[in-house]
Amino acid sequence: MNRPVADVLIVGGGVIGCLTAYYLSKAGQKVTVVESDAIASGASGTSGGWLTPYSHKYDPAMLALSPKTLELHRELSNILPEETGIDHGFEETPYLRCALTEDGAAELMSWQADRANEGTAMRWVSPEDARQINPWLTADTEGALLSENEPTLDSYRLTLSAVQAAEKYGASVVSGRVTGLTRGATTRHATGVTLEDGSKVAGGAVLLAIGPWTGACSSWIGSPLPVKPQRGQMVYLARPEPDEGPELKSGFSAVELSGSVIRKRLTNTTVGATREDVGFDRSTTEEARDFLLSQMAKLSERVLSARITGQTACLRPVTPDGRPYVGRAPRWDNVYVAAGHASEGIHYSPVTAVAMADLIKDSTTTIDLAALDPSRAGSS
Ligand SMILES: Cc1cc2nc3c(=O)[nH]c(=O)nc-3n(C[C@H](O)[C@H](O)[C@H](O)COP(=O)(O)OP(=O)(O)OC[C@H]3O[C@@H](n4cnc5c(N)ncnc54)[C@H](O)[C@@H]3O)c2cc1C
Repeated sequence: MNRPVADVLIVGGGVIGCLTAYYLSKAGQKVTVVESDAIASGASGTSGGWLTPYSHKYDPAMLALSPKTLELHRELSNILPEETGIDHGFEETPYLRCALTEDGAAELMSWQADRANEGTAMRWVSPEDARQINPWLTADTEGALLSENEPTLDSYRLTLSAVQAAEKYGASVVSGRVTGLTRGATTRHATGVTLEDGSKVAGGAVLLAIGPWTGACSSWIGSPLPVKPQRGQMVYLARPEPDEGPELKSGFSAVELSGSVIRKRLTNTTVGATREDVGFDRSTTEEARDFLLSQMAKLSERVLSARITGQTACLRPVTPDGRPYVGRAPRWDNVYVAAGHASEGIHYSPVTAVAMADLIKDSTTTIDLAALDPSRAGSS
């Protein structure tokens, strides 16, 4: 069956696809999102929701996009709930990076100096002040680096809200697994996509936004897109009842430990996350749960006494150089790629979506995507 033609087909209903659908349909484009599972069924539905450019490896090319993406997140936190009635839990909140040893303190202070040179102010606080800021900290620390604001949100709600708002502006969602592109008279012009059941969906442009599954697109476009899955597991802790001790006041981690504890306004506290190369296996393990809790218990005994409410595993989309592929697919005139945001896809989702929407509808964007050009995959 052939369906009506959309201006833009977006393959993948994660945060990148749904936010791009939102901006495009709000600008009057007719958008169809094609999703093989459920909206936000990938990492976008079960991420930590921490908005920071410093969750893992630090990358200047990405950092340059951080102020713009935060500005867009703030805008979305006001506008989307009005458009959909869904509060996605955005909250401006501090974050503490602790040191358990003198070496750790020295490492953090040197890291702080680098951030200060880039214009990001963070303040060193004493162990007492750190405990005051966040009473969950029970370990003897050497002090902590206080970042006044690294917001958090619920990424499942953000993604759902984005697609619902897009639908309000006329977008539609089609259920199906895309298996390839359909081509026009010129070989580098797509006319739509083919689904697993053999049906076709027509579109004026195609955006490939399928996160860790993007490797499959290499054969569709005839150029490499080496995105691989990396499993991340997280454990969820119930908020303490008033008689069970103090509330978690900020996120925290330690430079000597793996993982972090993230405060959420609407949902349970998250303790995450592992980094595992196990292909597309999305099962959870006891080993990961014990590892995460034991790491964070070295900073906070409360992590062990809190009630565990759940555990999830999902897949980060990881590229060889750690940067996402965002831009036009090499040698195609109407196929685009936005995938490979690794540990920071929620943080960078609005800036990616705005850039993609600009590029698709106007062929240009003021957001500097040079370092993210998908064609670099073929030259490495
Ligand atoms: C444990 C963990 C914690 C994280 N925490 C944070 C955090 O705190 N902050 C942050 O910024 N980032 C975080 N991330 C990273 C972030 O979650 C991801 O970078 C982001 O969700 C990727 O979004 P996406 O839309 O590219 O991909 P996905 O969310 O994976 O969405 C891709 C979608 O494409 C669909 N799809 C796949 N193949 C096809 C096909 N052939 N046809 C149609 N549809 C298809 C999938 O079903 C899926 O719904 C975390 C990741 C993990 C794993």
